[in-house]
Amino acid sequence: MKTILLVPLLLALSWRQPRWGFYGHQLINYHAVFLLPPEMLVLYKAHINFLTEHAVDPDKRRYAVAAEGPRHYIDIDHYGRYPYDSLPRTWNAAVAKYSEDSVTKYGIVPWWIQTMLHRLTKAFSEKDQSRILKLSAELGHYIADAHVPLHACSNHNGQYTNQRGIHGFWESRVPELLAEKQWDFFIGKAVYIDKPLPFTWQRVLESAAAADSVLHLERELSKKFPPDKKYAFEERNGTLVKQYSFAYTLEYDKMLNNMAGRRMRASIFAVASFWYTAWVNAGQPDLKELTNQEFSEKDMKEFEKLNKDWLNSNGKAPGKDCD
Ligand SMILES: [Zn+2]
Repeated sequence: MKTILLVPLLLALSWRQPRWGFYGHQLINYHAVFLLPPEMLVLYKAHINFLTEHAVDPDKRRYAVAAEGPRHYIDIDHYGRYPYDSLPRTWNAAVAKYSEDSVTKYGIVPWWIQTMLHRLTKAFSEKDQSRILKLSAELGHYIADAHVPLHACSNHNGQYTNQRGIHGFWESRVPELLAEKQWDFFIGKAVYIDKPLPFTWQRVLESAAAADSVLHLERELSKKFPPDKKYAFEERNGTLVKQYSFAYTLEYDKMLNNMAGRRMRASIFAVASFWYTAWVNAGQPDLKELTNQEFSEKDMKEFEKLNKDWLNSNGKAPGKDCD
């Protein structure tokens, strides 16, 4: 039922080249809503379309705001070998050791998630509905990014190993072809996260550890797969687009033992649990009594500007290019 409802919405939203791609981020925020307790569902279910649509705002912002890029990843292999003990886990200690410029350059997603969690907690305390919704949608995005192996690896698009395109392959193409047909999103309930920073680091380290398989197994598959069957042309919005073929995608997913599906489920659980944690930490405010129930004119202008900058960008954001 959930999936059926989602399809028209996603089709409407993903008319531009989706990039977790746009599709994956939207799916994650959408399904996270159903893990929440009834006291939160009153707000989140009523605004599920907003939370789904705006799951991708942080990616759109990358086209207009230079500081946005590093919030989505961490090139953790820059800091040595797994488990990267030389990198202090707290922001202040990491900056004291490497300088803010350097830490920022290699990506800040684990810490940015804490900033967003703090902001969301404050929005709950103030019972500010429009900020709760905006920050929930965006926090969901960064948490989902932290679950993507290639967001925790400097070879993020296979550019060092002649595998350009693998970023979108893993996070967009695989879910687009398989999520609604094969993956199960009944995940249980959100839980309270006692220690959000160590929880985040655990997920980031899992991503970092998985990056090697993501790259290595695609290289192996590429060697043994008939080259003329690796890609297929598909029509999108009236244009023929070269894509990894269904057979190639299916084989890759099998070799990875459905890693993208497993990471997506872990993302959904984490997103719902962070939303829940913010609400609990704010004293479980009654979400039936919220102020500021409409988005302000300023909010609406901001959404409009995000879209405009993104549409005018030709798909090129400053910094990392993952297409
Ligand atoms: Zn992102």
